[in-house]
Amino acid sequence: MDEKDCIFCKIIRKEIPATHIYEDEHVIAFLDIKPNNLGHSLVVPKEHFPNIYTTPDEVLSRLIAATKKVAIAVKKGVAADGINIANNNEPDAGQLVFHTHIHVIPRYKDDGYKHWPAKTNYTPEQMKEAAEKIKNALKN
Ligand code: AMP
Ligand code: ZN
Repeated sequence: MDEKDCIFCKIIRKEIPATHIYEDEHVIAFLDIKPNNLGHSLVVPKEHFPNIYTTPDEVLSRLIAATKKVAIAVKKGVAADGINIANNNEPDAGQLVFHTHIHVIPRYKDDGYKHWPAKTNYTPEQMKEAAEKIKNALKN
């Protein structure tokens, strides 16, 4: 999907409405229309990149700095007990909108959400092998 059809680009260009909560030169934030809890916000770079892999480091730096500001404000604004920061990449990881964004999700004691329900175990060999594969990938 290119910038013309991207829903977040349309929000950034103010072609479609959103409930904006923050804006600076490079980043905007607005409320997620389907919140996990009230105040769930999305922090979005104004420039279109489909996912974290393709987003330049300087854009990510500004994005995470704005995310910190928004997270502190969301926590205070809706009196959250905690905050989850999440970023989904690719459909199999739950990405629905292909414009890099960070979820700021207010959490409450006993709000009923359980993340990462299925946990697996490593054998020592699997742990070593997984680490080696990732370290090799980092070299390339
Ligand atoms: P993700 O699954 O990480 O791609 O998240 C996309 C998020 O965008 C979802 O939580 C949607 O509820 C949210 N969303 C989609 N369209 C809009 C919109 N027009 N305004 C605000 N949030 C939206
Ligand atoms: Zn976009």
